[in-house]
Amino acid sequence: MLFNQQFLFTPGPTPIPDRVKLAMNEPMIAHRSKAFSHLLEDVSTRLQPIFGARNPVLLVAGTGTSALETAACNVVEDGNHVVVVVTGAFGDRFANICQAFGANVHRLNIEWGKACEPGQLEEFLKSLDVRVKAIFATYCETSTGVLNPIKELGRITKQHTDALFIVDGVSCIGAVPVAMEEWKIDILVSGSQKALMLPPGLAFIALNENAREVINNCKTKRFYFDVNRYLTSYYEETSTPFTPAVSLIAGAREVCSLIEEEGWENVIARHQLLKEMLRRGLEEIEIPLFVEDDIASPTVTSIQPKEELIGTIKQGLQEKFGIIIAGGQKHLKGKILRIGHMGYCTPYDVLKVLTGIEMIQSNVLDRNIYGKAIAKAEEVWGKNV
Ligand SMILES: *Cc1c(COP(=O)(O)O)cnc(C)c1O
Repeated sequence: MLFNQQFLFTPGPTPIPDRVKLAMNEPMIAHRSKAFSHLLEDVSTRLQPIFGARNPVLLVAGTGTSALETAACNVVEDGNHVVVVVTGAFGDRFANICQAFGANVHRLNIEWGKACEPGQLEEFLKSLDVRVKAIFATYCETSTGVLNPIKELGRITKQHTDALFIVDGVSCIGAVPVAMEEWKIDILVSGSQKALMLPPGLAFIALNENAREVINNCKTKRFYFDVNRYLTSYYEETSTPFTPAVSLIAGAREVCSLIEEEGWENVIARHQLLKEMLRRGLEEIEIPLFVEDDIASPTVTSIQPKEELIGTIKQGLQEKFGIIIAGGQKHLKGKILRIGHMGYCTPYDVLKVLTGIEMIQSNVLDRNIYGKAIAKAEEVWGKNV
């Protein structure tokens, strides 16, 4: 094996740009200092366009799940009725978190691999005769590679309820469009190690005035994740209530620079291109896609080869080519494979993963298909340059 290098194509964690690594290596600064306040304000405001947020984005030291928990425990009180749209493992996690805080959870279960259609949420809400405090949804369902129609789900939410609309954007914010006000999102959360090109450990919480009011009145016992503490600290001292993840925040500043230099619209377009290149390339070599084109995420692609080939492809990629992809979760374990292509990912990276897959597929089919997938992907790329 010649590689001392691994090529990470998991849907989180994702590769880190060198510039971000260097920024995280800057000398440590005191967190109760002007320098830190300046850094925090810089990052919280420069993240706003990426979150489609009107207010500075709050930063909490913790993984993506801590962002989910923050969203839940600041809103949900014991006995409250909430709706959770469950399109896969992460919707299921949101529901479990709400349950842990005593909510009466109404799960809208969608078949894994499908998106929640606006009509399905509408019917579900009509069938409930209780006051719903919040509706939780997952933007990109990482376990299947589906992108849910958040804009439409937000519209339905506000048409039929006065509930907060709370969205998990962990595996797509930084790669896809979002507009909190226009899409009626009250709380949007994300994590650092997916499309935001950082190591794990930083959670992001964007929220509007509606959410602030509910959070302020929420009686649920909480301490570290109490959003009120983060708001007070931010607005009164441009600081954080507890020691912040200083190095990760320094890295986040560099991420903002990278995104600004490329141009936000171009970042979004690049992810669309990566998705197209990968999907068309895979089709060309007879690798079945798990999700329909129109609901497929631009950040993660699921494939559904014959079950006996799942191990051959995943292990083959790792052992022969140094390429790491992910398997399925829960009942999709052993049934699908997932390829992450978000954040610090270029068209060349898609060619790399397709090269490995088509060489393995050549063996499987016992037929020379070398160059077929990458030719197709290059064709797609060529139309975009
Ligand atoms: C990764 C992920 C999470 C959980 O994040 P952790 O950092 O593993 O806690 C939550 N939601 C979605 C959609 C994710 O992809």
